[in-house]
Amino acid sequence: MKTVRSILFYIWQFTFAIVQNLIGLAMFIAYKAKGAESEKFHNSVITYIDKKNFGGVSLGIFIFINAKREGDSLRDTRIHEYGHTIQSMLLGPVWLFVIALPSVIWCNVPYFRKLRKEKDVSYYKAYCEGWANTCGAWATKERFTTDELINRGRYGKPMYPNRSKRKDIKGRKRNK
Ligand SMILES: [Zn+2]
Repeated sequence: MKTVRSILFYIWQFTFAIVQNLIGLAMFIAYKAKGAESEKFHNSVITYIDKKNFGGVSLGIFIFINAKREGDSLRDTRIHEYGHTIQSMLLGPVWLFVIALPSVIWCNVPYFRKLRKEKDVSYYKAYCEGWANTCGAWATKERFTTDELINRGRYGKPMYPNRSKRKDIKGRKRNK
């Protein structure tokens, strides 16, 4: 069943989301030619690249992450980027305009960089980024581990808000 699902996943990616996958494939080939290392992550391929001021990017099933990332930060980046892979599947060609473009602008334009820094706005407050986190967590069934993701990963709000609440309900006496 898992294999069937994976095959369908790839067929879907290489039809409905073909554009970003072709761009990703071209990038993948270019970095592999330079000797970059890759690994499989769920249904994607993560390639680790040396690039300054770079966190990660996802283009269909092809994910690229800064080779210097490690530990919890790497773990969370993988889940986040895989979320963009899932968004690709959901949105197909529209993904480029609804997710990729706003994401690039939000990430790089000085105005937004300044806004995040000076007003302490979470990077994940942008819908395209917050949604990537929920998609990634859902698809991988993995949990985020860094503070920023846990505290502000869901559109600037806590990623797992029900956790403490649930405990609260458990300990509370029901009055029927
Ligand atoms: Zn992102």
